Amino acid sequence: MYGMIALVGGDPFTRSPSGRRQSMGADATHGAARPKYRRPVTFAELLAHPDVVQEVALRSRAGFLALHGGLEPGTAELARAAASAAGASCYTLVQPDDLRHHVPSHESDPALSTELTAFLAHVDVVVSVHGYFHRREALGHAILVGGADRGLTRRLAARLRAALPEVAVVDDPDAIPVDLRGRNPHNPVNCTAGGGVQLELPPRVRAIGRHGDRPGAEEHRARTQTLVLALADFAREQAA
Ligand SMILES: [Zn+2]
Repeated sequence: MYGMIALVGGDPFTRSPSGRRQSMGADATHGAARPKYRRPVTFAELLAHPDVVQEVALRSRAGFLALHGGLEPGTAELARAAASAAGASCYTLVQPDDLRHHVPSHESDPALSTELTAFLAHVDVVVSVHGYFHRREALGHAILVGGADRGLTRRLAARLRAALPEVAVVDDPDAIPVDLRGRNPHNPVNCTAGGGVQLELPPRVRAIGRHGDRPGAEEHRARTQTLVLALADFAREQAA
């Protein structure tokens, strides 16, 4: 099955907030402690925004997911590139640069999006692509490999270490900040039959698309492309 749907927010499914916001837990966000966002918004409100775009491509049973496209630069572009290279499926949710509405992954209720529901039903294994910011210097520019499926997490971490020996890759949950672990059962990455892995990427492996054209990004483009190819290889294996 192959399909591509591009929708601009405002479809009928965006009218029914999940009511799950009170479930904000320890596995919550990528930066809730920072006053980066103007105010908290629900997933339904985000989907309903006229400039927010969902895009889904259903290809193989492995898939890439990017819930914070636009907000976390390069993540949607990287997910699409890896999926395209692997013949894998892909779901991206992209907001314009100036919106900066962060809905934690575990509040991104698939029931509110026909596209996300179709994607999660189609894939067995998913890799969710996120990005953290320069200000989290304590993380040492490491790639953080999280998600509830430890077997998958270990396998992808090993592949990334082999592909990018100069980049630290951390997959021990105890060594990853709780807000970046991706282990909440309501996080879509943990909602597929075959399990999922959540990547939290530093800026220096997200130099792709227009983010790769920024001043100073040249030195990071090749590394980013190596990551794309490593993720594509992983997806091909999972889909086999
Ligand atoms: Zn994110």
